[in-house]
Amino acid sequence: MRYQRQIIIPEIGEKGQKKLQKSKVLVVGAGGLGSIVALYLASSGIGYLGIIDPDIVELSNLQRQILHKEENLGMSKAISAFINLKKLNSEIKILPYPDEITKKNVSNYVSSFDVIVACPDNFTTRVLLNDHAIKLSKPLVMGAVSELEGQVFDIIPPKGPCYRCIFEDATDDTINRGILAPVAGVIGSIMAIEVIKILIGFGDTLHGRMLIYNALTQKFREVIFLKNPSCKICQ
Ligand SMILES: [Zn+2]
Repeated sequence: MRYQRQIIIPEIGEKGQKKLQKSKVLVVGAGGLGSIVALYLASSGIGYLGIIDPDIVELSNLQRQILHKEENLGMSKAISAFINLKKLNSEIKILPYPDEITKKNVSNYVSSFDVIVACPDNFTTRVLLNDHAIKLSKPLVMGAVSELEGQVFDIIPPKGPCYRCIFEDATDDTINRGILAPVAGVIGSIMAIEVIKILIGFGDTLHGRMLIYNALTQKFREVIFLKNPSCKICQ
């Protein structure tokens, strides 16, 4: 009954729904993007949903991090996510990790899940996730938002380009930029769609192409990128 409106979609069916129920997805970051991804994956019936975030819920988060409520202020974001996702779907397992992705623990986290969703607020975590997703051959869905624009792409090892192929010379980008909340909603929703497609195995993924959304022009554009022959990670 709960999932009937998606089970009747031919690409999903009962078989696809059962795949989702057996799947383990790790959402890294329970912020603006992570909120949307986690809510949609929980409502869609992902069997095991891990949420990792070291931060606590602050008042300035509530504008776009809609997984958290006023009553969760001061609480760990991972625990707040657990409480609120359980209210949405008590039939799935929510695994909260009030922890930070580090060089030491990243292998453990990545290897325990089928698909990783990168919604962190810093470059270092993105690179760590990229390198270990390639090493451990785990699909990684990446997204980012800034002001009125957002982007999504998938890394699906062993083939194709990785994050390092695109952002070879990037440095830490932990700058507090503005974010229009619904832009995080658009990008987070596309990320959740990618996870479902990868898990069930239908449609064309955003592997090797970046989808860029601009709220100012209300246009999507696509940037195709190839594997960088000199990339040290995905060769
Ligand atoms: Zn690469």
